[in-house]
Amino acid sequence: MSYVVGLTGGIGSGKSAVAQLFAERGIKVIDTDAIAHALTAAGGAAMPAIRAEFGDGVANAEGALDRAAMRAIVFADPSARKRLESILHPLIRSESERRLLADSADSPYAILMVPLLVESGDYRKRVDRIAVVDCAEATQIDRVMSRSGLARSEIERILAAQATRAERLAAADDVIDNDGELTALAPQVERLHVHYLALSRQFC
Ligand code: ADP
Repeated sequence: MSYVVGLTGGIGSGKSAVAQLFAERGIKVIDTDAIAHALTAAGGAAMPAIRAEFGDGVANAEGALDRAAMRAIVFADPSARKRLESILHPLIRSESERRLLADSADSPYAILMVPLLVESGDYRKRVDRIAVVDCAEATQIDRVMSRSGLARSEIERILAAQATRAERLAAADDVIDNDGELTALAPQVERLHVHYLALSRQFC
């Protein structure tokens, strides 16, 4: 079983940019968001249960999850989010576990990228260490607006549903500052990488 570093941060904080830098160092990165997307793509393993629970209206013509339709249901009925999560979360957890165990000899440690790690007791228990990508909320909002075209109010609603910056920092073993230029990330990742290599050697 390899040493597992949980990588988290609020929406738009720069998790994907940081994960990419670990991957470039030969580290296995498991992205739970990407797993969730695959599970809800056309032919995804979660789609039969989601259609059975919410009806065929939540699938598009190809059979993938219609995210706008699902968002509308979840905003109108808070219990719908719980029902959706109770379908998705066990599938995401078992697929992440499968990937953590697969070929673990290739990577001295693994990065498990979980957007809501701080909010989730299960993932906090699963990881050996928590690395948080941190930036100001105003920076998150600017980045998400330019990446996705979502309205400011919609991003603020997403932020309000996530842990606060202070809560995330309180849970962090390591903090990666991403309020500056993208080029400032690599030296920070390099330092952590060296540290994680040492920790993973002690762990074996
Ligand atoms: P997350 O995975 O946490 O949602 P991303 O890594 O996708 O965040 O970053 C969000 C957006 O902001 C992306 O378009 C990314 O290219 C951009 N971005 C990330 N870090 C920086 C930075 N330091 N400076 C400028 N743009 C950044």
